Amino acid sequence: MEMPTDNFRADKKIAGPPMTAAGFLSMVRERLSAAGIEEAAAESWILLEWIFGLDRASYYMDPQFVLPEEKMKEAEEVLLKRERRVPLQYLMGICEFMGLTFHVDERVLIPRQDTECLVELALSIMEHEKKEREPGRKPQVLDLCTGSGCIGISIGKLFKGSEITLSDISGDALSVAGMNAENLGVAVDQVRSDLFDELGGSFDYILSNPPYIPSAVIDTLMPEVRDHEPRPALDGKEDGLAFYRRIVHEAKEHLYPGGWLLLEIGMDQGMSLLDLLEKEGYIQTGIKKDLAGLDRIAVGRKK
Ligand code: GLN
Repeated sequence: MEMPTDNFRADKKIAGPPMTAAGFLSMVRERLSAAGIEEAAAESWILLEWIFGLDRASYYMDPQFVLPEEKMKEAEEVLLKRERRVPLQYLMGICEFMGLTFHVDERVLIPRQDTECLVELALSIMEHEKKEREPGRKPQVLDLCTGSGCIGISIGKLFKGSEITLSDISGDALSVAGMNAENLGVAVDQVRSDLFDELGGSFDYILSNPPYIPSAVIDTLMPEVRDHEPRPALDGKEDGLAFYRRIVHEAKEHLYPGGWLLLEIGMDQGMSLLDLLEKEGYIQTGIKKDLAGLDRIAVGRKK
């Protein structure tokens, strides 16, 4: 009888026994929980569907379905990265925002659901002001610190006839934003600029979700954010307010009379922002809460 060679044994070991869909789900759940990931169960379903194309309905028809061996290597690579706490959105390369699919990678912050509040508020003000606008005059919108472009591109997509400028200090972020604008069929102007430094012209709406986390707090955040999202997109310097001070001051030069400044803020920054906006002479200032009831948007209007 022919004896198995060492080679044969080595191959066997790499390939491992056939993996069923049910086996995959429990293996992923276990490994991700051990890595400290809270949503391990939900993520196991997402990975099963993304890597193997098996949604829940197909899974329940045959939980013992044997997964194709040729995909197991890819699955293992993804899992290893996720165990190292690379955010799922970066691994998949996409993130949903305002019902639209944005490409994301480590060059940009992952769009958050909280930021949808900013977009929704902007859309409702724009809609409200539609009647007052001179016929044919298109609302000019600036998304400052655009990152993936999620704010400006969503407005461009959802408010017909708006003219969108996307700006960021990072050329890498602008590449991602440009790709997203193209994929979603939204025409945008792009300006690489440190806040307003390179921006000419005036706008009716200036929207921004600038970096606002105090530097010292960043190291206490979850590893996905702390180790993988771009630090310059998070870091609001010592007290977290550095960018707001500049934006609130400089935006006045770039807003038309009656133009609006809408800023996403951290839940404990509402009072500081109201103070800043009022000191700089903005009117109709206010703070809007997010769905969780936390302060999330600061608003002011140029006289
Ligand atoms: N505007 C982008 C967002 O809201 C990026 C914000 C940032 O990088 N601070 O997700």
